[in-house]
Amino acid sequence: MEIHFSLAPKPEPEEAEKGRLLFAAGSDFLKGVVAMDGMPPGDRVEVCFAGRSNVGKSTLINAVTGRKALARASNTPGRTQEINFFTIADSHYLVDLPGYGFANAPVKVVEKWQKLLKAYLSGRANLRRAFVLIDSRHGVKPVDEEIMDLLDRSAVPFQVVMTKADKIKKDEMVKILAQVREALAKHPAAYPELVVTSSDKGVGIETLRSIIAGIAG
Ligand code: GDP
Repeated sequence: MEIHFSLAPKPEPEEAEKGRLLFAAGSDFLKGVVAMDGMPPGDRVEVCFAGRSNVGKSTLINAVTGRKALARASNTPGRTQEINFFTIADSHYLVDLPGYGFANAPVKVVEKWQKLLKAYLSGRANLRRAFVLIDSRHGVKPVDEEIMDLLDRSAVPFQVVMTKADKIKKDEMVKILAQVREALAKHPAAYPELVVTSSDKGVGIETLRSIIAGIAG
């Protein structure tokens, strides 16, 4: 079977409204977690956001939740790496995974983080989907492949979200999307639709909201 990895369609009005309502109901920071036993009870739909440092993850989470500074915009190398839980209405958790790919992070920090990440991805029964953020200028890099491999092994369906689409021209986007599609074809856990976003221009935000709202509990 050939998978095409098409672009997620613009949501139908009812789907868009469902997404709008979910996020209009309010979002809040719940807690930062450094070990599995600190996780909140898995009593609702959960989605997580992963991506290389500087991919635009905090900015995107802020845009989707409509809150300017919900996700801290700094992921300093060497700082305690926490898995941050946000509540969306009273039905969803949005989970912000620490940015990966710091070239100069200490080995011990990286190892500890990888252990927690593996435990989280394989042990969280209510985790419905991971959004893997890819910078539109750079495409899929080896560190992204690593996280995709881990998601495959953990059987967590993941959907690629292109960020900073405003930074490149249409013809460049076509080339980058071809590279992304080729990379995704190797990953059984890859969801067959991609989302193109620009937090700066508000592109794809409504789509992402309605996708999250549409994930069944
Ligand atoms: P994080 O490390 O993944 O959380 O990345 P940030 O959200 O802190 O963003 C990294 C940099 O990219 C910041 O300077 C942002 O202002 C910038 N950025 C994020 N999203 C966009 C976008 O959609 N368009 C543009 N042009 N810049 C963006």
